[in-house]
Amino acid sequence: MSALNEEDKRILEESIRDIPNFPKEGIVFKDISTLLNNNEALKTLMNHLEERYKSYNLDYVAGIDARGFIFGSILADRLNIGFVPVRKKGKLPYTTVSEKYALEYGVDEIEVHIDAFPKENARVLLIDDLIATGGTAKAAASLIGKVGANCVEACFILELDFLKGRDGIDCDVYSVMHID
Ligand code: AMP
Repeated sequence: MSALNEEDKRILEESIRDIPNFPKEGIVFKDISTLLNNNEALKTLMNHLEERYKSYNLDYVAGIDARGFIFGSILADRLNIGFVPVRKKGKLPYTTVSEKYALEYGVDEIEVHIDAFPKENARVLLIDDLIATGGTAKAAASLIGKVGANCVEACFILELDFLKGRDGIDCDVYSVMHID
């Protein structure tokens, strides 16, 4: 399993900025838009994820609305597999299965198309930019199971370790970077 080397770690850590008190007082928002507009950082990240997951024998990458769509679709294309969006309530046009969850800030509901994973017993990697309390990822992993697929691993670019979000998720969890 490839580990992130020190130089790549530095490039990635320096590419993410902190926005204090967004979207509300007391939250330090981890802004990955400065990773996305930095070609060196984006390529470093995607090379690392491709290297890690190329041997996982995955069938789909499922990305969480909305920043998980960006990393998830690039990774799916690199792995030559399909991408599945796990969307906020009311955005998907076909029949859906949905799940409510608590955010670090607020409450929300996500859903997935009932036929999102056409392959039987599909091996799915779930991806998002950040895991905080883990509520979103837990709901997303549960949805993947409800529509007949297997969430093999949940992957995050950043993990807020102090919130222990990974403890509630029923599959392996991998985070590229950690905040103690
Ligand atoms: P949670 O369900 O608490 O793990 O929250 C994770 C979701 O909320 C992810 O989709 C993140 O993009 C977003 N999120 C939560 N906290 C932050 C934060 N401090 N900075 C950036 N995004 C966050």
